[in-house]
Amino acid sequence: MQNITQALHEATQCFVNVTTTPLLDAEILLAHVLKGQRSYLYTYPDYSLSMTEQNNFAALIKKRVAGWPIAYLTGHREFWSLDLIVTPDTLIPRPETELLVELILKKLPDIPLLVADLGTGSGAIALALAHERPYWTIYATDISLEALAVAKANAARLQIKNIIFVFGKWCSALPKLRFDVIVSNPPYIAENDLHLQQGALPFEPSIALASGEDGLKDIQDIVYEARSYLKLGGYLLLEHGSTQAEYACSKFLNAGYTHVKSYKDFSGLNRVTTGIFSIECLS
Ligand code: GLN
Repeated sequence: MQNITQALHEATQCFVNVTTTPLLDAEILLAHVLKGQRSYLYTYPDYSLSMTEQNNFAALIKKRVAGWPIAYLTGHREFWSLDLIVTPDTLIPRPETELLVELILKKLPDIPLLVADLGTGSGAIALALAHERPYWTIYATDISLEALAVAKANAARLQIKNIIFVFGKWCSALPKLRFDVIVSNPPYIAENDLHLQQGALPFEPSIALASGEDGLKDIQDIVYEARSYLKLGGYLLLEHGSTQAEYACSKFLNAGYTHVKSYKDFSGLNRVTTGIFSIECLS
């Protein structure tokens, strides 16, 4: 029989050459198996794991050593302080994506608004906005029914009621309405980019990561489509790769958006471009 201290020690050894945070990974996975908080591990270090717990832990260690991201092993990831369910059908929400939420909350008034989150995945952006602004009506779209099911389950667990989930590709999923805000974290990695074979990316849905030969196809499509779904004065906000800001800005400008601007994430990398749909878009 193994106690918690021994189990943690053994798992940490297995992870030394696998992750940059071997002890943390071991703690998160063991806490998950024991259905408790990480602090539990240090409150009851002598607790003996049952055979089932040992087997479950061993299975997770094996997957982690094979490269599985922690979030898929626990089935959870925190975004904007909300605990979200994630599955291999959804991208694992990234902390830098919180920049989109932050910018929207900063730029838009706290009055009832109509918002669309295109390609919602686990629902991260829509849920964060809906949680902060219960009076907004948010349409969340996805082309993956499996991802939509996860996003809906997250809304139900968090008791968030102001999101309408719709199936379909980008703006074509939306009803013929004019929105105050359209936001998206679309796929933006080039199809043959070697990054897709590194870290967590091989385990994530490629449909949510790769976008054409140059990674720019979906950004381009959304910039153009959104003009038929934004109110005059409405905002488009798109996440993109750290080298794509110039391209994104030129697309926004060519499509007639005004006040076009890129914003840096907490790593100092250009990560989001925004623009306002204005009368120039119509000419
Ligand atoms: N930011 C993600 C990454 O580089 C990509 C997410 C996306 O394509 N939308 O891992």
